[in-house]
Amino acid sequence: MSLIVQKYGGTSVGTVERIEKVSEKLIGWRERGHKIVVVVSAMSGETDRLLNLAKAISPRPDPRELDVLLATGEQVTIGLLCIALEKRGCPARSYTGGQARILTDSAFNKARIQDIQADAIRADLDAGRVVVVAGFQGVDESGNITTLGRGGSDTTGVALAAALKADECQIYTDVDGVYTTDPRIVPTARRLDRITFEEMLEMASLGSKVLQIRSVEFAGKHNVPLRVLSTFQEGPGTLITFEEVLEAESMEKVLISGIAFNRDEAKVTVLGVPDRPGIAFSILGPVSDANIEVDMIVQNVGRDSTADFTFTVHRNDYERTLEILREQTVRLGAREVSGDNKIAKLSLVGIGMRSHAGVASRMFQALAKEGINIRMITTSEIKISVVVDEKYLELGVRALHEVFELDQVS
Ligand code: ADP
Ligand code: ASP
Ligand code: MG
Repeated sequence: MSLIVQKYGGTSVGTVERIEKVSEKLIGWRERGHKIVVVVSAMSGETDRLLNLAKAISPRPDPRELDVLLATGEQVTIGLLCIALEKRGCPARSYTGGQARILTDSAFNKARIQDIQADAIRADLDAGRVVVVAGFQGVDESGNITTLGRGGSDTTGVALAAALKADECQIYTDVDGVYTTDPRIVPTARRLDRITFEEMLEMASLGSKVLQIRSVEFAGKHNVPLRVLSTFQEGPGTLITFEEVLEAESMEKVLISGIAFNRDEAKVTVLGVPDRPGIAFSILGPVSDANIEVDMIVQNVGRDSTADFTFTVHRNDYERTLEILREQTVRLGAREVSGDNKIAKLSLVGIGMRSHAGVASRMFQALAKEGINIRMITTSEIKISVVVDEKYLELGVRALHEVFELDQVS
């Protein structure tokens, strides 16, 4: 008998009929002798709907109250799923994040799980119940409801699997695994049988929303076997593995594992700042004081000993970042602060890059051939990212997918 944590995303529980289907799948697993903990998301579109209700009242809703609101989405699903299980004679019990003792810090809207006191869940499992937990939410030490950031139900699933020492954490979604890139953008994208934690972490942090970044981090840290599968069709899905498991030979061959992209980007440029020590700090200090995360940074020094300083932020933080820096133009001695929020980031990811030169130049050549201008570049050992105009994103992803032959099994 094994203990399995299964997470079902928004589309998988998007209608009452789908919730009933999930309940039947769960009963099948239980009948095959497994202990099952299920984590569910809100029904598809529900979190956005709730967010829009709040935004209709205030452009910057109070973070604590926003979490009180957003957490209701998942609560609806746990209730409905347990009703469906009980109707079929399957003993089940629902838990909100607080009831499941998912303890987080108090960073509303992006809380981190610190501990899970899973005794009650264990007792339910021993009593033969299917345990149904609301994803995406927890409770802080003062009893406030917190949420874990968009896509956070993946992290709930992995954290529960770690706390319960589950045999596997299965993420059920609307695609049958992790693909070489988003199959909605490139129809010839290929499902990967396996991907390493390191690569999956890069893919997730560079914009592939199939798994929330924190869920991959958590799984890596706590050695949770993690698999992405389809709710709607049978199949092996994609196993997230540790690097050592991959055979040396296949590692040699695979240069690029996938292409990630992110449209949630904006760039801000501070033009004509004096080129002297401390300038990067004086520009980015006020930005980080406002809790705005900065991603890529580029500084060019011109001949007149002034520098242009460009960096990217999340598109939601664009207006605020411009506002902060415009207030500082005089203090910084800058000529102008400008920006662009119609940009996107496009990244190649692969551990095979470590041992191969020339990936970057092939990438740049492929983009140039399509007439796509590269605005910024960053690299690390296993990834190359470029910023391009948003309108070229899809073209760029398709071109790179073809040039690196990602549709072909290596
Ligand atoms: P869920 O609601 O189940 O959590 P998400 O929408 O969060 O589902 O994640 C699944 C979606 O992720 C897919 O429908 C797909 O469009 C997108 N996606 C992005 N990149 C990839 C990728 N590399 N492989 C598979 N799916 C991807
Ligand atoms: N319902 C939340 C969201 O839409 C969490 C999740 O689905 O993982 O982001
Ligand atoms: Mg998701």
